[in-house]
Amino acid sequence: MCTGRVDLGFIFRSFSNGMDGVYIAGCRLDECKYITQGNYHALNMVLLGKKIMEHIGLNPDRLRVEFMSSAEGSRFAETVNDFIKKVSAIGPFGKSEGLDENGLKSKLNEIERLIPYIKIVTREKLSSRLKDPETWNQLFTKEEIDKLFSEIISYYIDPEKCQACMTCAKRCPVEAIISAKNQVHVIEQEKCIKCGTCLEVCPTKFSAVTKISGGPVPPPLPEDKRAIVRKKKE
Ligand code: SF4
Ligand code: SF4
Repeated sequence: MCTGRVDLGFIFRSFSNGMDGVYIAGCRLDECKYITQGNYHALNMVLLGKKIMEHIGLNPDRLRVEFMSSAEGSRFAETVNDFIKKVSAIGPFGKSEGLDENGLKSKLNEIERLIPYIKIVTREKLSSRLKDPETWNQLFTKEEIDKLFSEIISYYIDPEKCQACMTCAKRCPVEAIISAKNQVHVIEQEKCIKCGTCLEVCPTKFSAVTKISGGPVPPPLPEDKRAIVRKKKE
């Protein structure tokens, strides 16, 4: 209903579902009737989405946003027809870019999983309100998006410090933490969306969660070695 609702998740899910192009039409900038100015939000999502597409080797022209009023039917028709012409000229999704189908699928899955993290890292720029179209392409650079992915952070629970208080597991929004009573907790990296909640909520007296930037995550303790041996009080 409103472009303020447009999310990277919608865009990349459309591509994952086999769409060759995604076209988003919103109200004219600065004519949003809400103070939230949702169409700027959509614009920023599209600008970020385009750079992520470039990062994985996709043609960013497959994604387009246009702003118009509901009275501009002819403009809508013209821009949609132009978009269809351009996307048809680019060709089938991924194949025209010379990307391997399975490789592209796993990249798209990875992007969809990392969307909450990407939005956290880019949150300041995602609240921009760039009026001049000449400046849009500079909001995000390909270099910064490449860096975002190369320095991607991971969270890790130090088995020497974890006291199985279970706080992190209760607060993890995606149930990515293997939790059991009196067992060292373990983050399932393939489920983790890197929101950082576990780091925030782990009690300071344990400080068992660490943030790893760009490097490998130590392998998890085998299940039969996770029992916690508590020190007896003297
Ligand atoms: S960062 Fe921590 S709380 Fe957030 S999803 Fe990953 S494991 Fe769960
Ligand atoms: S909050 Fe910290 S100490 Fe408690 S279970 Fe999680 S990692 Fe372990």
